Amino acid sequence: MQLTCTYCNRVANTKDHIPPKGMFPKPRPASPITVPSCSNCNSSFSKDDEHLRDFLSFREELSDNPFVKQLNKSIPRRFDRPQSHGYFNYLHARMGEETVKTTSGIYLGRKATFNVDIKRIERVLGRITKGLYCHCFENKLMEGFNTQVYTQEYFLSLEPEHEENFRSIFQSNLANEQWFVVVPNGFEYKYKALPNSAYTVWIFRFYSKYYGFGVTLKEEEKERQNKNKPITYRPCIMTE
Ligand SMILES: [Zn+2]
Repeated sequence: MQLTCTYCNRVANTKDHIPPKGMFPKPRPASPITVPSCSNCNSSFSKDDEHLRDFLSFREELSDNPFVKQLNKSIPRRFDRPQSHGYFNYLHARMGEETVKTTSGIYLGRKATFNVDIKRIERVLGRITKGLYCHCFENKLMEGFNTQVYTQEYFLSLEPEHEENFRSIFQSNLANEQWFVVVPNGFEYKYKALPNSAYTVWIFRFYSKYYGFGVTLKEEEKERQNKNKPITYRPCIMTE
């Protein structure tokens, strides 16, 4: 059994759930994937996990998912607690409103929007990539390797020529791979190890519709890729 933490080099004394268990209302579905984690790492994840859950459950296109429906029912109760007021203000500051049109230009009216804290979502995706790597290959990510992750927002903000490259990395490489269902309607993933290299590519699907992407690659490669990242992301449309 692996005794070191999946995310750092300390001794593992807890288990981290993949996907984060906070994504699901109680009673929570049994999540069969856990990876060894130290308590330091494990306790540092909760705010990012909370943001992932809220960012996804606020999204209009996910509002008919059974888990999301239940999560949204508990929102008033969650924010009523005095200890949640600071977090509520943080979320509130990220909300806005904008005019929405269909891709063909039909006016849909003014809609409430939410500006996601992309860094938080990327941290969760990075952890999921490392965790699933450890789960699938029964080994920690090698020294000198790291993860590079992309949100669906990133993909949608790409220029056409970069979009093609992105599609070839993720869609073409993974087209024939099967989806592993961790929680039905909740979390699925597929992955592939690229031949003759230690690179792996991953697609994650949250609540059946929201996609996240990950790769494992050499540390120096990550730095090079970071420079090409766009900075602005469009806010997502919120559930009414
Ligand atoms: Zn750790």
